[in-house]
Amino acid sequence: MLSLSLQNLIGYLAMNQSTPAYERLRQQMFVLVCLGLVVSGVFGLFGLGYDPRVAKPMQLLLSLAAISASWTLIAIYVFRVPFIKLERSFVWFFLAHFFLRLIVETWSKDLQIGEFELFTDTGVVMLMLGMFIALPIKEALDYSLLLFFGFLLIPWSAVIFAEKSQPPLSALLFRHQLLTGLIMGLIYVLGVSKSEWYREQARSQMLHDIAHQDTLTGVANRRWLLEQVKQLTSSYALIMFDLDSFKQINDQHGHDMGDTALQQAALLAKHQLRETDLIARWGGEEFLIVLPNASLEVAKGVAERIRLSFLETKAPAFTASFGVATAEKDEFDSSLKKADAALYQAKNTGRNQVMV
Ligand code: GH3
Ligand code: MG
Ligand code: MG
Repeated sequence: MLSLSLQNLIGYLAMNQSTPAYERLRQQMFVLVCLGLVVSGVFGLFGLGYDPRVAKPMQLLLSLAAISASWTLIAIYVFRVPFIKLERSFVWFFLAHFFLRLIVETWSKDLQIGEFELFTDTGVVMLMLGMFIALPIKEALDYSLLLFFGFLLIPWSAVIFAEKSQPPLSALLFRHQLLTGLIMGLIYVLGVSKSEWYREQARSQMLHDIAHQDTLTGVANRRWLLEQVKQLTSSYALIMFDLDSFKQINDQHGHDMGDTALQQAALLAKHQLRETDLIARWGGEEFLIVLPNASLEVAKGVAERIRLSFLETKAPAFTASFGVATAEKDEFDSSLKKADAALYQAKNTGRNQVMV
């Protein structure tokens, strides 16, 4: 499980792709961090001999962390607060904490140069990374800009207005901000390219769908089916079906109802198929199904089941005629003709039936 989780995490960071497994991992990590805070808080309070009269700031901080973490856990399980809300409030909390500390420490009279360096270094970078992992990209970008300007302006305001302009501090501050700024810029650029990459993925997925899918029924189109058939390595069976007197349905119930019938037909037919079977809208109200490794008998049975499921339809009620044929690999065209001929026969001998 650990290696799977690691894989997901790496996959997310490297390919900028959020998978359901990664979302789960993120939530698990969130809960683990909360539990860790509770445990360390309890240890801080009792394990180290807590005494409210002489409590050290660290112990107080731990107890606060334990209390807020346990409330967070309770909120998750009792009130089912969505993770994204919790993560957002965590980010706000850390941002506020960070700015407050930055103000207090840079404005304090006895600022030690080394201190300032240490906490900003790790704080800024960790906070920014955390935001990019937890938040939607747009939000992470906004918050990181806020973080960056705070990090830039607050120390300099102290240097200028609180008379801290001793040369070593200014030089150190400048060098320090430049370096951390560069790291932040890098994370920022990564974040932007991540969102661009996402958009590009969505766009190519959409183009792929447009090129391969029938927009009305959601099943594949003729082009996609032809591509897939070329890749088949075994024999297969074909079922071609055509809705009966469809012109009448359009005329009597309207074109929209006709569309609904087509959608229902696609859905019901798909329902009778296996994962490996293929179905496409072949033309107007005509569909083609490819059943890899199926015998004529099996295909006939499938067609019959689809035909029967159409009899249950009501608004609008429709029926269909079916032609079935089998094919060896590379025999698509001739088999299609056979299925088409069988369908023609089904139409001519009364409709609403399966012919071979
Ligand atoms: P048959 O039983 O012989 O198949 O009769 P039919 O009326 O179904 O056959 P015909 O080919 O004469 O008519 C097909 C009709 O299907 C005509 C066309 O307007 C309609 N059609 C084709 N594509 C669509 C579509 O996407 N939506 C709707 N609502 N109707 C469509
Ligand atoms: Mg028809
Ligand atoms: Mg037709």
